[in-house]
Amino acid sequence: MTAGLDPLRLTAREARRLLTDGEIAASELTKIYLDQIARVEDRVHAFILVTADNAAKYATEIDREMGATRGALAGLPTAIKDNMVTEGVTTTCGSKILGNYQPVYTATAVRRIWGDHIVMLGKANMDEFAMGSSTENSAFGPTRNPWDLATVPGGSSGGSAAAVAAGEALWALGSDTGGSIRQPAALCGVVGMKPTYGAVSRYGLVAFASSLDQIGPLTRTVYDCALLLRRIAGHDPCDSTSVALPSEIELPTAERLDGLRCGIPTEYVAAGIEPGVLSRFEQTVALIEELGATCVEISLPHTEYALPAYYIIAPAEASANLARFDGVRYGYRSVHADDLTEMYEATRGEGFGPEVKRRIMIGTYALSSGYYQAYYGQAQKVRTLVRRDFDTAFAQVDLIVSPTSPTVAFCLGSRTADPLAMYQSDICTIPVNLAGLPAISIPCGLSDHLPVGFQLVGPAFSENRLLAAAHALEGAIGFTAVPTFCDSRGASHGAAGQAEPGAPTEPAGPDRRAADEDQRR
Ligand code: GLN
Repeated sequence: MTAGLDPLRLTAREARRLLTDGEIAASELTKIYLDQIARVEDRVHAFILVTADNAAKYATEIDREMGATRGALAGLPTAIKDNMVTEGVTTTCGSKILGNYQPVYTATAVRRIWGDHIVMLGKANMDEFAMGSSTENSAFGPTRNPWDLATVPGGSSGGSAAAVAAGEALWALGSDTGGSIRQPAALCGVVGMKPTYGAVSRYGLVAFASSLDQIGPLTRTVYDCALLLRRIAGHDPCDSTSVALPSEIELPTAERLDGLRCGIPTEYVAAGIEPGVLSRFEQTVALIEELGATCVEISLPHTEYALPAYYIIAPAEASANLARFDGVRYGYRSVHADDLTEMYEATRGEGFGPEVKRRIMIGTYALSSGYYQAYYGQAQKVRTLVRRDFDTAFAQVDLIVSPTSPTVAFCLGSRTADPLAMYQSDICTIPVNLAGLPAISIPCGLSDHLPVGFQLVGPAFSENRLLAAAHALEGAIGFTAVPTFCDSRGASHGAAGQAEPGAPTEPAGPDRRAADEDQRR
């Protein structure tokens, strides 16, 4: 019955139909993904932890016990970014400092879908504390982009995006503070959505920058994105910044965009977009018009200040949030210390990676008494200006469209020595977080064999409008390509890229990565 089901193409919508119609058992479906993980994970490294035994066991239980009373998402194999705490399942946040952390509770977003009986396949790799745009900052080694193993999957939700793209998960949860769902979705050729700030509870999401962080879906289609979002969204008494959406998330059906007004921000298109990305973007804009919408140029004049403001605000919040990792309350503790102060210093010195330390130092400096107004205060004012730019724009247009990332996936190692070049990856996504708005990235074609992402941004709580438009556009784009697991660097140098399926081109990550610990799921 499962023959012919291709994990590179299967959607959650279709999988759900197969399960409900009894054409496939949850255990068979889960096996398809576990088999794919066994085939490609050595090369992709999308997971920090694969919970294979628990996934298989749980899927069998679903088959046995639930019968006709299956929940809406029952049996759907899912990857969870490793910054969402999962009771009984190690949660590392991509950091050595939480390398052995066993949470005693579960994040609300995860609890909700666990309540629906999804099957968790494992915890997805990520940049340490979600700081990064390439997943190279993970303490457990980088993830590789299944479209070309020489390139990065984007970040920080690179593990979640790569898992979906590589057919190692049906869909995934990620988090987005400055682009970390949308940018990896773009680079991996999948759909990724950052909901309006507050639409999804942050309870149990390890905090990076609390005024910016949002959990959201990474999926193969816009329909699947709506399906997952509608289960995780909603008010949560445990997160005082969460709110109920004005109306329930609808499953999109739109095929046309008649009457829709789209704005193209001059500043984004000018912001160093590479030619291949720009031409895919322009083709997609032409499709939008064919579907009955109008596109006009608009201005978001403070765009150039968004990135500098973000790199004050996010590190400032991070420096406060990360103060709790002191070797006493969580995870790792250094043994190289004789007294308490030395223990704090050694624990943090050994436990945090270089990017996290860089942000803590910037943030601490920006918040120090002599500089608070000059940096943090000023950045908050800039944030207001960025938000007002969007308010003004949304008085003229219904949605704003842009490329998601200025480039396609770049080579591993090519930006690690230059943090500023890395930060540029998020030039089109960061302003949206500063303004707290919802945005979605959908694949709009290939450039040089790599996927290009198209971003749609809406006013606060316009999730249904965004999903409807993205769904119609997705239908018109008709993106059907799937990753090839090639290695352009290996190919151009001869040998390494010709790896057999299952043969790693790189040494595998730390031992514990594939260890299927005796954990709950
Ligand atoms: N790349 C950005 C950063 O490094 C955004 C990260 C994110 O959205 N979590 O901060």
